Amino acid sequence: MNDLPSHRPTADSPADLGYAGLALDRCGEAREDAGFLAAAEADPAARMALFIGSRAVLRASGGGTLDPLFDRAQAEALGPVERTVFLGRDASGPVFAAHLDVGVETAVGRADDLALEDLRTVATDGRLSGPALALAGYAKSMLLWHERHGFCANCGARTAMRGGGWKRECPACGALHFPRTDPVVIMLVTHGDRCLLGRQPRFAPGMWSCLAGFVEPGETIEAAVRRETQEEAGVTVGRVAYALSQPWPFPSQLMLGLTAEALTEEITPDLDELEDARWFAREDVRQMLAGAHPKGWFAPPPAAIAHHLLRLFAQT
Ligand SMILES: [Zn+2]
Repeated sequence: MNDLPSHRPTADSPADLGYAGLALDRCGEAREDAGFLAAAEADPAARMALFIGSRAVLRASGGGTLDPLFDRAQAEALGPVERTVFLGRDASGPVFAAHLDVGVETAVGRADDLALEDLRTVATDGRLSGPALALAGYAKSMLLWHERHGFCANCGARTAMRGGGWKRECPACGALHFPRTDPVVIMLVTHGDRCLLGRQPRFAPGMWSCLAGFVEPGETIEAAVRRETQEEAGVTVGRVAYALSQPWPFPSQLMLGLTAEALTEEITPDLDELEDARWFAREDVRQMLAGAHPKGWFAPPPAAIAHHLLRLFAQT
């Protein structure tokens, strides 16, 4: 496994977009190879990303930053390692994701050189970023999928992990279950020189962001953008164009970032979803991205895809 094509940097994603830019060869073609997986498990260079429940166990790595990977000895020193999923390889060797027993939570929380954190926290404050954040997000999505799919959705029997964690098999009915990713559209809707942003009640005061929603069965991406914008803001959308995407591990979404042109201007916010929605001038957006808006309004942080959609708009 000398050829590691996915290690080559690509310009698909901005460097500061969270959870994107994974620097790992997923070795998808080798997941069914029991010999390959056994050798990876036994490799002394193997490392693992550790979680307790949905929170990541992270190592202090100097300069206020954190490292999500532990070698086997470091991991086993923390406690029993459960449910190992093969994530892929980098130039140093194989990488796995694993849960630590919840019984070690207190000890991990007290250790000076460890942190037990929600990934949103460390992505926002910048302690985890770039490929390390992408790897932690990927590991979290895989572990949570196993945690929530222990029983067959077809017949209800307990399922078993196969293929290094890339599927679950039902011994009773034979059904195979595969890790899922749920598509979400997030759109920068523009009308002339202004863009449409909304506020959810859970947002920090002053923060505005792009509208977003799950793609429903039977729906195209474009139709989902038009439906969500109509439902949430009462605005009719015409042309829709793809901009960029982002894995979002809460628990396992794929954020599809789009631009969309509004055909109507009047806003009727759905108050069950949004506290408010309004049009923002380009200069407002520039000041919001810079954290310098006179009204205290601000954009989501660079780890969020909405920040990058707004940056595209501000630069136009
Ligand atoms: Zn079954």
